[in-house]
Amino acid sequence: MDYAKMTIEELAALVRKNLALRPSSDTASLNAACGRFKYRSAPNGTIVITDPEWTAKNIVSLTTQEYGRRNALKDFLPDLAGWPPTPTVRNGKPAFVTVPKVWCHRLMAPALVIAWRIVYLENLQSKVATFDGLWVPRHQLFNPSRPLSVHSWGMAIDFAARTNGFGAKPQLDERVSRIFEFYGFAWGGRWRGRKGKDDYSLADGMHFEYCDPLEYARGPIQDGVLKKDRP
Ligand SMILES: [Zn+2]
Repeated sequence: MDYAKMTIEELAALVRKNLALRPSSDTASLNAACGRFKYRSAPNGTIVITDPEWTAKNIVSLTTQEYGRRNALKDFLPDLAGWPPTPTVRNGKPAFVTVPKVWCHRLMAPALVIAWRIVYLENLQSKVATFDGLWVPRHQLFNPSRPLSVHSWGMAIDFAARTNGFGAKPQLDERVSRIFEFYGFAWGGRWRGRKGKDDYSLADGMHFEYCDPLEYARGPIQDGVLKKDRP
Protein backbone atom coordinates (compact mmCIF):
# COMPACT_ATOMS: atom_id res chain seq x y z
CA MET A 1 0.00 0.00 0.00
CA ASP A 2 1.58 3.30 -1.04
CA TYR A 3 0.26 5.46 1.79
CA ALA A 4 2.55 8.35 0.92
CA LYS A 5 0.68 9.05 -2.32
CA MET A 6 -2.79 8.87 -0.75
CA THR A 7 -4.79 11.97 -0.01
CA ILE A 8 -6.11 12.72 3.46
CA GLU A 9 -9.56 11.66 2.23
CA GLU A 10 -8.29 8.31 0.94
CA LEU A 11 -6.46 7.64 4.18
CA ALA A 12 -9.54 8.65 6.18
CA ALA A 13 -11.65 6.13 4.26
CA LEU A 14 -9.22 3.34 5.25
CA VAL A 15 -9.24 4.53 8.85
CA ARG A 16 -13.04 4.50 8.94
CA LYS A 17 -12.98 0.83 7.90
CA ASN A 18 -10.34 -0.10 10.48
CA LEU A 19 -11.83 1.81 13.42
CA ALA A 20 -14.50 -0.83 14.02
CA LEU A 21 -11.87 -3.59 13.91
CA ARG A 22 -9.74 -2.22 16.74
CA PRO A 23 -9.33 -4.64 19.63
CA SER A 24 -9.35 -3.72 23.27
CA SER A 25 -5.93 -3.99 24.86
CA ASP A 26 -6.20 -7.47 26.43
CA THR A 27 -4.39 -10.49 24.97
CA ALA A 28 -7.52 -12.37 23.84
CA SER A 29 -8.90 -9.35 22.00
CA LEU A 30 -5.51 -8.56 20.40
CA ASN A 31 -5.10 -12.18 19.28
CA ALA A 32 -8.58 -12.13 17.74
CA ALA A 33 -8.17 -8.83 15.89
CA CYS A 34 -4.45 -8.88 15.05
CA GLY A 35 -3.67 -12.58 14.85
CA ARG A 36 -2.02 -14.95 17.30
CA PHE A 37 1.72 -15.52 16.90
CA LYS A 38 4.12 -18.15 18.24
CA TYR A 39 6.97 -16.81 20.34
CA ARG A 40 9.65 -17.71 22.84
CA SER A 41 10.84 -15.78 25.86
CA ALA A 42 14.05 -13.77 25.64
CA PRO A 43 16.12 -11.86 28.24
CA ASN A 44 14.92 -8.72 30.03
CA GLY A 45 11.21 -9.30 29.52
CA THR A 46 11.40 -9.29 25.73
CA ILE A 47 10.11 -12.07 23.47
CA VAL A 48 11.11 -13.33 20.03
CA ILE A 49 8.27 -13.93 17.59
CA THR A 50 9.02 -17.26 15.90
CA ASP A 51 6.24 -17.01 13.38
CA PRO A 52 7.38 -15.64 10.02
CA GLU A 53 3.93 -16.29 8.54
CA TRP A 54 2.23 -14.05 11.11
CA THR A 55 4.87 -11.36 10.57
CA ALA A 56 4.63 -11.46 6.78
CA LYS A 57 0.84 -11.27 6.89
CA ASN A 58 0.47 -8.56 9.52
CA ILE A 59 3.53 -6.31 9.88
CA VAL A 60 4.05 -3.54 7.32
CA SER A 61 6.87 -1.02 7.02
CA LEU A 62 6.44 2.73 6.64
CA THR A 63 9.20 4.94 5.30
CA THR A 64 10.35 8.11 7.06
CA GLN A 65 12.99 9.70 4.89
CA GLU A 66 13.22 11.44 1.60
CA TYR A 67 15.55 9.01 -0.11
CA GLY A 68 15.10 11.05 -3.27
CA ARG A 69 17.99 13.38 -2.62
CA ARG A 70 20.42 10.59 -1.95
CA ASN A 71 19.27 8.01 -4.45
CA ALA A 72 17.94 10.21 -7.23
CA LEU A 73 14.46 8.72 -6.86
CA LYS A 74 12.93 12.11 -7.44
CA ASP A 75 9.33 11.02 -6.98
CA PHE A 76 9.93 9.31 -3.68
CA LEU A 77 7.67 10.53 -0.87
CA PRO A 78 8.03 9.10 2.64
CA ASP A 79 4.95 7.77 4.43
CA LEU A 80 5.97 9.67 7.56
CA ALA A 81 7.61 12.96 6.56
CA GLY A 82 9.31 14.93 9.32
CA TRP A 83 9.59 11.87 11.57
CA PRO A 84 11.25 12.55 14.96
CA PRO A 85 14.70 11.13 15.83
CA THR A 86 15.32 8.16 18.10
CA PRO A 87 17.82 8.26 20.97
CA THR A 88 20.72 5.85 20.58
CA VAL A 89 24.34 5.48 21.65
CA ARG A 90 27.22 6.12 19.26
CA ASN A 91 30.85 5.57 20.33
CA GLY A 92 29.64 5.35 23.91
CA LYS A 93 27.92 8.73 23.74
CA PRO A 94 24.23 9.57 23.56
CA ALA A 95 23.16 10.43 20.01
CA PHE A 96 20.03 10.68 17.86
CA VAL A 97 19.22 8.93 14.61
CA THR A 98 16.13 9.04 12.41
CA VAL A 99 15.22 5.45 11.66
CA PRO A 100 14.59 4.93 7.91
CA LYS A 101 11.60 2.65 8.46
CA VAL A 102 8.95 2.06 11.10
CA TRP A 103 7.19 -1.32 11.35
CA CYS A 104 3.61 -1.63 12.57
CA HIS A 105 0.49 -3.82 12.28
CA ARG A 106 -1.40 -3.33 9.02
CA LEU A 107 -4.58 -2.49 10.96
CA MET A 108 -2.88 0.55 12.51
CA ALA A 109 -0.84 1.75 9.51
CA PRO A 110 -3.35 4.13 7.85
CA ALA A 111 -4.23 5.72 11.20
CA LEU A 112 -0.58 6.30 12.03
CA VAL A 113 0.10 7.79 8.59
CA ILE A 114 -2.85 10.19 8.69
CA ALA A 115 -2.35 11.23 12.33
CA TRP A 116 1.33 11.93 11.73
CA ARG A 117 0.59 13.78 8.48
CA ILE A 118 -1.78 16.10 10.35
CA VAL A 119 0.81 16.66 13.08
CA TYR A 120 3.32 17.55 10.34
CA LEU A 121 0.91 19.78 8.39
CA GLU A 122 0.08 21.60 11.63
CA ASN A 123 3.84 22.07 12.15
CA LEU A 124 3.68 20.28 15.50
CA GLN A 125 6.35 17.66 14.75
CA SER A 126 8.95 19.50 16.83
CA LYS A 127 6.64 19.03 19.85
CA VAL A 128 7.24 15.29 19.50
CA ALA A 129 10.86 15.24 20.60
CA THR A 130 11.63 11.60 19.92
CA PHE A 131 10.30 8.34 18.48
CA ASP A 132 10.92 5.68 21.13
CA GLY A 133 9.67 2.45 19.62
CA LEU A 134 6.72 0.74 18.01
CA TRP A 135 6.91 -2.98 17.17
CA VAL A 136 8.88 -4.19 20.17
CA PRO A 137 7.78 -7.74 21.09
CA ARG A 138 7.88 -7.85 24.88
CA HIS A 139 5.94 -8.14 28.10
CA GLN A 140 4.24 -5.08 29.63
CA LEU A 141 6.90 -2.91 31.32
CA PHE A 142 9.50 -5.55 30.27
CA ASN A 143 8.24 -7.67 33.21
CA PRO A 144 7.97 -11.39 32.26
CA SER A 145 5.26 -11.98 34.88
CA ARG A 146 2.95 -9.49 33.13
CA PRO A 147 0.92 -10.12 29.94
CA LEU A 148 2.32 -9.30 26.51
CA SER A 149 2.50 -5.59 25.68
CA VAL A 150 0.33 -4.16 22.90
CA HIS A 151 3.69 -3.27 21.27
CA SER A 152 4.20 -7.00 20.57
CA TRP A 153 1.49 -6.90 17.89
CA GLY A 154 2.83 -3.63 16.42
CA MET A 155 -0.29 -1.86 17.71
CA ALA A 156 1.29 0.76 20.02
CA ILE A 157 3.83 3.55 19.60
CA ASP A 158 5.90 5.58 22.07
CA PHE A 159 6.85 9.24 21.60
CA ALA A 160 8.89 11.69 23.71
CA ALA A 161 9.65 9.06 26.35
CA ARG A 162 12.15 11.14 28.30
CA THR A 163 9.55 13.65 29.49
CA ASN A 164 6.52 11.32 29.43
CA GLY A 165 7.60 8.36 31.54
CA PHE A 166 5.27 5.75 33.00
CA GLY A 167 3.74 6.95 36.28
CA ALA A 168 4.55 10.62 35.68
CA LYS A 169 2.39 13.60 34.70
CA PRO A 170 2.51 13.74 30.87
CA GLN A 171 4.30 16.71 29.31
CA LEU A 172 3.34 15.99 25.68
CA ASP A 173 1.64 18.84 23.81
CA GLU A 174 -2.07 17.99 23.95
CA ARG A 175 -2.59 19.20 20.39
CA VAL A 176 -0.54 16.15 19.36
CA SER A 177 -2.34 13.66 21.59
CA ARG A 178 -5.74 14.97 20.46
CA ILE A 179 -4.86 14.44 16.79
CA PHE A 180 -3.90 10.82 17.51
CA GLU A 181 -7.05 10.30 19.57
CA PHE A 182 -9.18 11.74 16.77
CA TYR A 183 -7.90 9.03 14.43
CA GLY A 184 -8.62 6.23 16.88
CA PHE A 185 -5.64 5.89 19.20
CA ALA A 186 -6.04 5.55 22.94
CA TRP A 187 -3.50 7.76 24.75
CA GLY A 188 -1.84 6.37 27.86
CA GLY A 189 -1.47 9.93 29.13
CA ARG A 190 -5.13 9.79 30.17
CA TRP A 191 -4.74 6.74 32.40
CA ARG A 192 -5.06 7.45 36.12
CA GLY A 193 -4.63 5.49 39.34
CA ARG A 194 -7.32 4.79 41.91
CA LYS A 195 -6.94 8.09 43.70
CA GLY A 196 -8.49 10.08 40.88
CA LYS A 197 -7.58 12.71 38.33
CA ASP A 198 -4.32 13.77 39.97
CA ASP A 199 -3.08 10.21 40.49
CA TYR A 200 -0.59 9.71 37.66
CA SER A 201 0.63 6.34 38.93
CA LEU A 202 -0.77 4.57 35.84
CA ALA A 203 -0.29 7.40 33.33
CA ASP A 204 1.83 6.47 30.27
CA GLY A 205 2.18 9.76 28.43
CA MET A 206 4.57 8.43 25.77
CA HIS A 207 2.18 5.62 24.75
CA PHE A 208 -0.48 5.55 22.03
CA GLU A 209 -2.24 2.28 21.22
CA TYR A 210 -4.60 1.57 18.36
CA CYS A 211 -7.11 0.00 20.69
CA ASP A 212 -10.69 0.79 21.51
CA PRO A 213 -11.15 1.34 25.24
CA LEU A 214 -14.90 0.78 24.80
CA GLU A 215 -14.63 -2.42 22.75
CA TYR A 216 -15.88 -4.54 25.67
CA ALA A 217 -19.17 -2.66 25.54
CA ARG A 218 -19.72 -3.49 21.90
CA GLY A 219 -19.15 -7.20 21.47
CA PRO A 220 -16.35 -9.56 20.53
CA ILE A 221 -14.11 -9.36 17.50
CA GLN A 222 -13.25 -12.65 15.86
CA ASP A 223 -10.68 -13.24 13.14
CA GLY A 224 -10.42 -9.51 12.63
CA VAL A 225 -14.14 -9.12 11.96
CA LEU A 226 -16.52 -7.36 14.30
CA LYS A 227 -19.46 -9.68 14.95
CA LYS A 228 -22.23 -7.12 14.97
CA ASP A 229 -24.91 -9.77 15.49
CA ARG A 230 -23.53 -10.64 18.92
CA PRO A 231 -24.56 -8.87 22.09
ZN1 LIG B 1 4.21 2.10 24.82
